Amino acid sequence: MPEIVRRKTVTVKVGQVRVGSDAPVVVQSMTNTDTADVEGTIQQVAALATAGSELVRVTVNNDEAAKAVPYIVEGLDKVGIHVPIIGDFHYNGHLLLTKYPACATALSKYRINPGNVSVGRKNDDNFRAMIEVAVANQKPVRIGVNWGSLDQALLTRMMDENSKLAQPLDTRDVMMEAMCRSALDSAAAAEKYGLRHDQIIISGKVSGVRDLIDVYEMLAGRCDYPLHLGLTEAGMGMKGIVASTAGLSPLLLRGIGDTIRVSLTPKPGGDRTEEVLTGQQILQSLSIRSFTPQVTACPGCGRTTSTYFQELAEQVQAYLRESMPVWREQYPGVEELKLAVMGCVVNGPGESKHANIGISLPGTFEEPKAPVYVDGRLMTTLRGDTIVADFKKILDEYVQNRYGSAERTEQLVEVH
Ligand code: SF4
Repeated sequence: MPEIVRRKTVTVKVGQVRVGSDAPVVVQSMTNTDTADVEGTIQQVAALATAGSELVRVTVNNDEAAKAVPYIVEGLDKVGIHVPIIGDFHYNGHLLLTKYPACATALSKYRINPGNVSVGRKNDDNFRAMIEVAVANQKPVRIGVNWGSLDQALLTRMMDENSKLAQPLDTRDVMMEAMCRSALDSAAAAEKYGLRHDQIIISGKVSGVRDLIDVYEMLAGRCDYPLHLGLTEAGMGMKGIVASTAGLSPLLLRGIGDTIRVSLTPKPGGDRTEEVLTGQQILQSLSIRSFTPQVTACPGCGRTTSTYFQELAEQVQAYLRESMPVWREQYPGVEELKLAVMGCVVNGPGESKHANIGISLPGTFEEPKAPVYVDGRLMTTLRGDTIVADFKKILDEYVQNRYGSAERTEQLVEVH
C-alpha cells in the first residue's frame, strides 16, 4: 500500500498531546453540556476521553462557564482522566480570559474565532488581549475560522476589491480566499503579539464537502501550521457521517490534516461519543491509525435466507466492544486484528483468508458447517448450536497467543 506522506508542519503541544508533522493524527471532540454544569461536563468529557477522544473542547461562553473550567479539570484529574481541555471562545473571550485567570491556566489551548473578535479593527484589541493571555500562560491557540462567522469586514473589503477587477473572480472563490486570508492574517497577528510559531493551529471550516477540500488545500499550500480538519455542522446520523468522511478522506490521503473532529448532531439524548468513534473509523478505514479490531462482514443476499450470519456479525462486534477495554491494556497491537464474518461459500472462504480470523457461514442449501480460517489457513470447521461460543473461544485464544506473548498464532493452526 503506498505510504501517505504527511504534509510537513511544526509540532504544537496541547498539554501532553503533540499535534502536527510526524505525530499521529489526533482525534478530538467537543462537549454539548452547559459548561457551568461541572458534574455533567465532567461526565461527558470522561465519556468522550474513554471513547478515545485525545483532546476535548468545551464552550466558555459566560462567567459561570469560565468559573467552572478549573473545577472541571480538577474533577477529571481526580477520576484519572487527564485529557487536555480546550476552551472555545467567541465574542467575549478577551473578557473571560482576563477576568478568570484560573480558567486561563486550567485550559490547555484556546480556540479563537477571528470572525467575532477584533482582528483587523482598531488595534486588534480583543484579539490581542486573548493572545497576550495565551503568551503569559504559554498556551497554544487554534485560529478557528468558520464560514458561518467569517470576518464580515474582511469579506466585504475583498468582495469590493474583486468587483473592481477587470475579470472578477467567482463569489465562491472570493469566499474561499477570505477564509484563508482571515486564518493566516490572524496567525501572523498572533505571532506579532508574541505567540510562538509552534503554538498555532489553524482551521477553516465550511459545511460543503467540495468547499472544505478546496479551503484546506489552499491553507496547506500556504503555511506550515498544523491543520485541524472538520466539516462544520456536518448534520445528523448517516448524512453527517458520510459527508464528514467524504470531506476528510481526500485530504487525509494527501497527508493534509493533523487533528480531526467530526461535528455530528446527536439525536436528543443521543450518545455524544459517536463523533469520536466516527473520527477513529475514518482514520482506521484509511489505514492511517488503528483503534479497534475491524470486522469485515458481507451484506448478505438471496443466498442467505436466515439472519444467522447477521446475528453472528453483530455478536462478534459486541464481543469486541466489550473486550477491548481489557484487551487494549493486556494485548498491545490487538487493534490491528482483522476479522471476517461471511454469509456463504461464494466470497466467504476468500474473504476469510484475508483476515486474521474468518468464518464462512453456510448459505441456503449449503451443508450446515462453518469453516474457520486463521491467518489464511483452514483451522477448523464448526457445526451445531455452539458455533458462536466456539468462534469466540478461537478469537480469545488467538488474541492471547498473538498479542499476549511471543508465541505466534501458527501454534493454533491445525488443519482438519
Ligand atoms: S458472501 Fe454469499 S451471502 Fe454474502 S453477499 Fe456474497 S454471495 Fe451473498
